[in-house]
Amino acid sequence: MSVCRIRLLGDPALRQVCEPADEVGAEVRALIDDLLDTMYAADGIGLAAPQIGVPLRIFVYDIREQDIAPGVLVNPRIVERHGQIKEEEGCLSIPELREIVTRNAQVVIEGLGREGEEVRIEADGLLSRCLQHECDHLDGVLFIDLVSPLKRKMLLSKWSKREPGERPAVPAM
Ligand code: ZN
Repeated sequence: MSVCRIRLLGDPALRQVCEPADEVGAEVRALIDDLLDTMYAADGIGLAAPQIGVPLRIFVYDIREQDIAPGVLVNPRIVERHGQIKEEEGCLSIPELREIVTRNAQVVIEGLGREGEEVRIEADGLLSRCLQHECDHLDGVLFIDLVSPLKRKMLLSKWSKREPGERPAVPAM
């Protein structure tokens, strides 16, 4: 178990389409532990494997709400999407930026858990947003790709002038 370096915008690791994990064995479980350690060290609510440079379809999440347990999904796929909602969003890989992003309000997502068991999650609210954000990471998509070209230009300009150490006020993932 260890805290890994989180890759930042500009790192090609964030732009790869990740491969499915062949099996959920000791190696995948070690990766899951690294993801959890790194997510908690960064005070994030979600973290995907490519954010620590591993091109596999795996992420962890913990939105810190009492009724919602932290979890992991291996080879996740969104099987249902309903409604639309706009909320501010932040990403651990673009730590100084946040922006309003339109997402589906509810999703149903299926994948494998830590022991390789089948998992199905019906999510809304922040959990739904977090799961969609993490699934995007597995396809090399970042939240700045989901805003208008003008907004993106402004965000990238802000990023290029960033002061190191700033932290988003919204939960980042
Ligand atoms: Zn992110």
